[in-house]
Amino acid sequence: MIFNQFFDDKSSTYTYILSSGKGREALIIDPVIENTKEYLTLLNNLELKLVKVIDTHIHADHISALNELNKQTNCKRIMGEKSECEVIDIKVKDNEKIKIENIELTSIYTPGHTQCSYSFLMNDRVFTGDTLLINGSGRTDFQGGSALEQYDSIFNKLLKLPEDTLVYPAHDYNKKKFSTIGKEKENNPRLQVKSAEEYIEIMNNLNLANPKMMDIAVPANKKGVTAEQLIT
Ligand code: FE
Repeated sequence: MIFNQFFDDKSSTYTYILSSGKGREALIIDPVIENTKEYLTLLNNLELKLVKVIDTHIHADHISALNELNKQTNCKRIMGEKSECEVIDIKVKDNEKIKIENIELTSIYTPGHTQCSYSFLMNDRVFTGDTLLINGSGRTDFQGGSALEQYDSIFNKLLKLPEDTLVYPAHDYNKKKFSTIGKEKENNPRLQVKSAEEYIEIMNNLNLANPKMMDIAVPANKKGVTAEQLIT
């Protein structure tokens, strides 16, 4: 099993490269455009054939490498069916299987951070995008976000998974690599609430500045273009 977790310093994004072994098919989750070369080098070194690439949601803080990887390897671009991205090859519904050689992921529709946020379950681990973060959760104040929907996604979907399920988020600002559902239930300060109303109250009072890249990243990721292509 190849499980490679890349960290993008600029946006604190985690990207995951999955494959059942050297020389086999591979899948990438949440790739960042600036790191495309590194992914291709790793794929090349391990003789992996990239067949599928997933974005958990339309990112506001970096440009996705979905399109660039598709151009270079002809891999299929996957997002959830609620995605407004114009260049997706496969749109998955809630609870749909995504398969590559010897690996199977199941999509879970987890809106709240954005209306197009999906998580992906693979055996003992779940890729939570920006829905559930380590000791946090993704902001819900733009891109069709909803604190109420996020409460439902976290409490009624993700936290229902077995407690030892590993949690791999799309970001961590403290370079923590993973957690578990059980640890998040117990320690995540946002999850120590008694009601949806209490959760909404927390999320509506975060007072965060917009991501610096937002005005470029969101439209570029919807169109599947680079920042330069968007401007020209
Ligand atoms: Fe996000």
